[in-house]
Amino acid sequence: KRRKQTPTSEYVTQILKGNITFLSKAITLVESTNAKHQKKANEILEACLPYANKSVRIGITGVPGVGKSTFIESFGKHLTSLGKKVAVLAVDPSSSVNKGSILGDKTRMEQLVTDENAFIRPSPSGTSLGGVAQKTRETIILCEAAGFDTIIIETVGVGQSETAVHSMVDFFLLLKLAGAGDELQGIKRGIIEMADAIVINKADGDNAKNAKIAKVEFNRALHLYPPKENGWVPKVLVASALQHKGIDNIFSMIDTYITDAKKSGFFNEKRNQQNKYWLLETINQQLKDNFYNNPDIKNLLDSEIKKLKESKTTPFNAAKRLLGK
Ligand code: GDP
Repeated sequence: KRRKQTPTSEYVTQILKGNITFLSKAITLVESTNAKHQKKANEILEACLPYANKSVRIGITGVPGVGKSTFIESFGKHLTSLGKKVAVLAVDPSSSVNKGSILGDKTRMEQLVTDENAFIRPSPSGTSLGGVAQKTRETIILCEAAGFDTIIIETVGVGQSETAVHSMVDFFLLLKLAGAGDELQGIKRGIIEMADAIVINKADGDNAKNAKIAKVEFNRALHLYPPKENGWVPKVLVASALQHKGIDNIFSMIDTYITDAKKSGFFNEKRNQQNKYWLLETINQQLKDNFYNNPDIKNLLDSEIKKLKESKTTPFNAAKRLLGK
């Protein structure tokens, strides 16, 4: 016997009431690859959309071990103590493979997980960053409809996932450690350019002094980069996520940034740009998928590759033939 399906309207009503069980079930539909689930997910998303968009979205990145979970827990508790509702999501395209460091893992945020004003959801699994990013963006909409006013999106400081997260948040935070030697080593230029602020974590104990030195050096380094579109000069702060130090400063900084961005219109402008980016990204991905999954193309591609090996065609002529099909 088939189980009776929960109607879309029931999902929406419950999500808008802030019902976490329904929110979680809807996210599971979003993450499913089953066509029926996806259809349902899209109906729910469409109905939730008018109630979304009202949050502040904060991206947090940094290499494994820098203290992301510890920071998010401390920062998240600070936010809920101010009466905010916090959702923690993650973008980790490797999460299905690399079981060792699942982002947004609830066991790594023991305090926040029991906070009734916090909702933590690990990264959807998947090997394609595009797929994972789309699911996370849809999950943001559902969380916002459920009344979460602050969305934290965690990602690792390695690879391409920062670009994806940067393109879905209002404020992008890079966590760093004070280290001996050249402070700039190991930071990819691209990631620094994306950051609205750098937080030097673990500024406690013997490390406190080094953190202050690193702050000066990072500040100097940041001046080598062009200012942001809105004129914002990225800030460098120190914190101890473990000892909950510097967390309130970081919140005030972000709060000031958001208030100013809303006043100037930059906040909406950036979100519009991001929507356009994701529209084009989705089209690009879809076109590529349709192309490469077409059986005729698959066959022709194989034969053109063979001809290339035999020097019977050039890459450009082969591409022309394939695209002309
Ligand atoms: P993640 O991999 O970036 O999520 O890092 P974790 O939050 O799991 O932290 C890695 C390790 O660093 C853990 O042992 C934490 O207890 C420790 N840690 C995190 N933040 C701090 C901090 O502010 N000070 C100190 N001393 N240790 C910290």
